[in-house]
Formats: sequence, structure tokens, C-alpha cells
Amino acid sequence: MAFEGLTERLQNAMKKLRGKGKVSEADLRATMREIRLALLEADVNFQVVREFVKTVEQRAKGAKVLEGLNPSQQIVKIVDEELTKTMGEAAVPLNKAPKIPTIIMMAGLQGAGKTTTVGKLALKLKNEQNARPLLIADDVYRPAAIEQLQTVGQQIDVPVFQLGTDVDPVEIAKRGLEQAKTNHNDYVIIDTAGRLQIDEKLMGELGNIKAAVHPNEILLVIDAMTGQNAVATAEGFDKVLDVTGVVLTKLDGDTRGGAALSIRAVTGKPIKFVGQGEKMADLDVFHPDRMASRILG
Ligand code: GDP
Repeated sequence: MAFEGLTERLQNAMKKLRGKGKVSEADLRATMREIRLALLEADVNFQVVREFVKTVEQRAKGAKVLEGLNPSQQIVKIVDEELTKTMGEAAVPLNKAPKIPTIIMMAGLQGAGKTTTVGKLALKLKNEQNARPLLIADDVYRPAAIEQLQTVGQQIDVPVFQLGTDVDPVEIAKRGLEQAKTNHNDYVIIDTAGRLQIDEKLMGELGNIKAAVHPNEILLVIDAMTGQNAVATAEGFDKVLDVTGVVLTKLDGDTRGGAALSIRAVTGKPIKFVGQGEKMADLDVFHPDRMASRILG
């Protein structure tokens, strides 16, 4: 289960304060040390951990929590609020174009869940906004990738634009967009190529697609199971693409929590959606406060 270890350790750290009418500075320091270790063990970025612990400690001292009523409950509340803040405070909606179609470009490493997420997002838009999206198959390096997107499209009854593997991805994106305009599709979702690691060729190509179609939204699909690597990947893509949001996938797995807690703070980019399963319906809007509650258990 996701966050299992983190939840248990955070709860244990704060449980020791429970029942205390008064919390000494030494008690607080000991608790903060345990919280710090819990976060580091969950693979949260150390800079983020440092900032988090400092803020919680300062708030606890500053608000005279230690001498007040129910200090342990108040500290739990501060931790909850600061976890929420670390993940971005409030849900951030999808960008929308003033005139249809809204262009969404999806990027990410191979296996992160990009193609699956393209389908999930299209279904969500269809179900919740009655939208008519067009999917564009822009991964020309793996014939299987086009087939996979077509299968996804059939599953959710959404059309897929493809020109095979012999046309330049920039050209495919442009022609797909033209078709969407002709057919009055209100969303275009471009499934770009992924690779096993970030390389110049991939980044150059993604940059060219971005320059050609000017997406309203560039969503980076990141596998939550990859912890600190997820954060490094996000930074790498963001440097080149200046992404507008992140989709964190596989939160139904036993991720430790590092990616969820670090990405926003490190990159400044909001997590907009989370993938919580392999089925097309398993995509949810990311709510930092709900995620904080889930982490605290
Ligand atoms: P791509 O290479 O980035 O396009 O990745 P795919 O969309 O092909 O997904 C790779 C694998 O991850 C597939 O087996 C998906 O079913 C799986 N996957 C994608 N998103 C999720 C998720 O949120 N939860 C789980 N458990 N599996 C996922």
C-alpha cells in the first residue's frame, strides 16, 4: 500500500506526544528528529525535508503550542497543514484554450504510464465535460505504441489520429491538430515518444513539437514508484519543456511517498492528476489536502 511505512512512522513519532499536557522543547526536538527520518526514509528530497522540519518546529514554538491545550493534536494539525503546503495547497485545474481545441501534450519516460494516462484523461474529459477529444499518436519509434494508443482509443470510444511511423512527429502533431480543427474536437491529446532515459534527441524532438503546436498544457507523466529518480526526471524534462503540470502514476502501488512530497517543492510545478490503477477510470484530480490526510492515515 502507498505511504504505508511513512504513515506508520509519522504516527509513531507524534503518538509519543499524546496525553502530554505540556510538551518540552526536548520532546518536540525528538519528535521532529523522528519526522525527519521518516521523510528521508520515504525518499523525500533532503532539501524539502529540511525546510519542512524547520517550518513545523518554528510554528510549534511560535504558536506557543507547547504550553497550550492538547499540544500533540496541535502539532498533528501543523504537520498536516505543512504537508498540504509542500504538495501545493490546492488542486490546480487543467489549462484551457480560449478557443477550441485545447492542446495537451503528454511527455514522460517509457513505462511511466503516458499512453495509459492519455486514455484516462480523455475518458475523464468525455465523462465530466461531455468533451470530444482527439488523440494523436506521436510516438513513431515503436509501432507497438501506435497500436497501444489505438486500443486505448477503442476502449473509451475516442478517435485516434495516426500517420504510421514514417512521418516526422512534428508533422504528425500539426496534421493531427488540423484534423481536430476541421472536426471541431475540443481537446487534442498528443502522446509523444518516451525513452528509457532522458537524452538530447528526445528532448529536442519534444521541444520541436511544443514549438510547432503551442500546447496549452504540457503534462509530465511520472512514475511515483521511482522516488528520487522521479524528481530528477521531472527536473530534466521541465528544464527543456517548461511543463505546466505533472501526472503522478502508480499511486496504487507501494510507493514510499518521496515523489508525491518532493515534486512540487523541487520543480515548482503542480501535480494535477494522480493515476491510481491500470483501468481507464483510475485517474483522479490531485488534492494536496486529501493526500496529506492519506499520508497521515
Ligand atoms: P508509457 O510507456 O509511458 O506510455 O506507459 P504505459 O501507458 O504503456 O504504461 C506502462 C505500464 O504501467 C502499463 O502496464 C500500465 O497499465 C501501467 N500503469 C499506468 N498507469 C498506472 C497506474 O496508475 N497504476 C498502475 N498500477 N499501473 C499503471
